[in-house]
Amino acid sequence: MKKNSGYSLLRDPRTNKGTAFTPEERKKYGLEGLLPAQVETLETQMLRINGQLNLIESPINKYSYLSNLLETNETLFFNLIMNDPAKFLPLVYTPTVGEACEKFGHISRRVKGLFISINQKDHIKEILRNWPVEDVRFTVVTDGGRILGLGDLGICGLGIPIGKLALYTGCAGVPPEFTLPIVLDVGTNNEKFLNDPLYPGLRHTRIVGKAYDDFIEAFVVAVNEVFPKICIQWEDFKGVDAIRILNKYRNKVCTFNDDIQGTAAIATAGFISISRLMGRPFAEQRFLFLGAGAAAFGIADMLIQKFQKDGLSRKEALEHIWMFDVKGLLVKSRNDLADYQLQFAHDSEPSDNFAEAILKIKPTAIVGVSTVGGAFDKQVIENMSAVNERPIIFPYSNPTSHSECTAEQAYTWSEGRAIFASGSPFAAVTYEGITFTPGQGNNVFIFPALGLAVFATEAKRVTDEMLITAAEAVAEQVSLQDFESGLIYPKVDNILKVSLNVAEKIAAHIFDNGLAGVEKPADILAFLKSKMYVPEYK
Ligand code: NAD
Repeated sequence: MKKNSGYSLLRDPRTNKGTAFTPEERKKYGLEGLLPAQVETLETQMLRINGQLNLIESPINKYSYLSNLLETNETLFFNLIMNDPAKFLPLVYTPTVGEACEKFGHISRRVKGLFISINQKDHIKEILRNWPVEDVRFTVVTDGGRILGLGDLGICGLGIPIGKLALYTGCAGVPPEFTLPIVLDVGTNNEKFLNDPLYPGLRHTRIVGKAYDDFIEAFVVAVNEVFPKICIQWEDFKGVDAIRILNKYRNKVCTFNDDIQGTAAIATAGFISISRLMGRPFAEQRFLFLGAGAAAFGIADMLIQKFQKDGLSRKEALEHIWMFDVKGLLVKSRNDLADYQLQFAHDSEPSDNFAEAILKIKPTAIVGVSTVGGAFDKQVIENMSAVNERPIIFPYSNPTSHSECTAEQAYTWSEGRAIFASGSPFAAVTYEGITFTPGQGNNVFIFPALGLAVFATEAKRVTDEMLITAAEAVAEQVSLQDFESGLIYPKVDNILKVSLNVAEKIAAHIFDNGLAGVEKPADILAFLKSKMYVPEYK
């Protein structure tokens, strides 16, 4: 095949400008004849893209169209996302990406990312070097173990790292050329996939135990050697694997887990925001969790650190956190608690009635991480309303069918007094003539901003303090007017601006704590802006 630079330029999504190549460029790169005569602006191209998108009805087909655009013309793709994030986030990421992952094996298309299987454990470095970019700074990596609420999707989970990295760029301007989605293939326990001739990954059940951990270790070593400035974001691993991997590597390399730390940070941001807007010190909050598993542990751990930052001792902080699991209140007299649960067990009477426990403990907030839809029943909300002027109701379980209550139930049963945020989205609710906009604890306010700060400062670690700083910065950006309509998080329409402000605070923390790999600039905001991706043709 003869070499032709123009043809390659058109086929590389990073260099492709399509009809926007100028006459001079067309001549210089051998593009004449490969394009129609009309030279178009980015704006004209956007008109065409929007027109085509409007003709497509189903979200999954819009997703496919957008994925194809990302693989064809990166500038156009990000221009679209960054101009209307509220519209495109649900198409590029949740909820649409879930369906896209399920169908991944059946949709034949080119995707951005690397597949590394456990059989390739001994030559991961060579595989990483097959990636055409030498200085990768950010990877989102999954083993497909627990994709959203959909369970084990094996390598079809790659859609999640792709979507998430698109949000790093689309929501905070992390340049896409520095990002790399990766899926680690250790097999799958998904029976449907194992029997599907179109499943493209290893066709055996998951490798677990030492062989699995050795593979993760080989990956971490290789990726840090090939890309020395990289930050690894672990994504959608099964809970036990997620906690073990994070604990093993968090103090060794630059890494974090968004399911654990990002979720905890956005929940904490919500509570900080409520405290600030109610004019009440955060240290006065008292939390009762329904569910004492991985999510509860992650959120509680961050709340404790926030309490400590605000002057409480760890012992005092623990007095503000109570938990209830499938067997009842976590109390010292129970002998069935896991190690990590012991710290949350109080010297108190046992209880197996959550609504009654509310009257006794008098929490300012209840947090649902039990996976039990409807567990915050009328009695629970009424009791919360009896002990609080403004009861804080956070049903965080996903998907919507698992939410401990709906927004409508919370507002109705509390007679319009509830402050509500959930894991899954709920539509606005009108109660007695007042319209409330339910908050959604969406990590998208945290991880892209964190990514920008880490990328620009070349941070060596991701610490919990950085995530608390992020939570505080998110909370600062909610106005009293928004709060009165029920909002405790900023609006997604402003995500780029919000992310930049959050990134500024995180970057300042990184510089001030000796975690940066570059000199502290005089003006951090200007420095960050200079590093941000702008979706324009160069
Ligand atoms: P998990 O299995 O680790 O923990 C579930 C906990 O709920 C256990 O302690 C269990 O004893 C308790 N439980 C079960 N049934 C109960 C009942 N009837 N009454 C009281 N407690 C009960 O699960 P997890 O990883 O902690 O996730 C929990 C939920 O949180 C999931 O629905 C998940 O989607 C959600 N989550 C949400 C986000 C978010 O961003 N919103 C992030 C992470 C997890």
